[in-house]
Amino acid sequence: MPEDGIDLKARDDIMRFQEMEHLLGLFLDLGVTKVRITGGEPFVRKGLPEFLIKINQYEKLESINLTTNAYFTEDAVQLFQKIKMDSINISLDSLNREVFYKITRRDDFEKVWSNIKKFLLTDLTVKLNMVVIKGINDNEIVDFAELAKNSKVEIRFIEQMPFNGGHFSNDILSAEEIILILQNAYPSMMEFFKMSSTARIFEIPGFKGRLGIIAGHSRTFCSTCSRLRLTPEGILKICLYDHGSVNLKDMLRSGRSDQEIKTAIKDAVSKRAKDGFESEQRTLQKIHFSKNKLSMAQIGG
Ligand code: SF4
Repeated sequence: MPEDGIDLKARDDIMRFQEMEHLLGLFLDLGVTKVRITGGEPFVRKGLPEFLIKINQYEKLESINLTTNAYFTEDAVQLFQKIKMDSINISLDSLNREVFYKITRRDDFEKVWSNIKKFLLTDLTVKLNMVVIKGINDNEIVDFAELAKNSKVEIRFIEQMPFNGGHFSNDILSAEEIILILQNAYPSMMEFFKMSSTARIFEIPGFKGRLGIIAGHSRTFCSTCSRLRLTPEGILKICLYDHGSVNLKDMLRSGRSDQEIKTAIKDAVSKRAKDGFESEQRTLQKIHFSKNKLSMAQIGG
């Protein structure tokens, strides 16, 4: 969360649930089978549980996933167990109350941790996402890994990406450096091969859970990436690093037909950059990333 917060959107600028549902139907027709609800934070939106229950009935939708900061999830466990929730990704960047406050601008570590523990006690697939920030929380890498010793959780260490409200420094801890720290702490750690994963997965003998490393900045997994992102404003992003191709909400509201919207989606996908670096280059031609105030608190990951 940037120090000066983020610009809040007017209600009318963001998609209504009916619009999201409509667009989801079109994406399913085009072959999408998996959806992840991100945000910002999905649970700030009233009506989210009803929306999840509704889309859970779509036969073509094989898996529903969600990324949350676990702030408002006290009552979510039962809901997630009721629907075909594939996995819950929880963003947690520190196990230390002061550092948590520094990163999130909220003194709510205890509340979030208590909510996370509720998930860990269930049979739901839980992934804890820690963005590794050099000099801020990199001394907690092994503390996080230890959480996978007695719990079936997947701890995912994510390279910092340039989406923190315009204060990004290229002096990041790379995925390779993170792996080295873990290998030093756990010499018996072994890589577990899984095709098409955006994370490199490692197992440690005796640990119930696993460790994942996501090279979000080095972008070593673009060749297996088939993700599309739809921002709350309805903008279709073909890559995390692009600045959006077409506004599908505006197309819907201006009465464009389903066929026209599907054509626009296919057209945007056909112009996909070969990887995240090319996407970034294209974006840099339009704006300068260092002046980009966009934050993960808005993109949602
Ligand atoms: S193509 Fe873009 S969104 Fe996909 S993995 Fe690469 S950088 Fe990430």
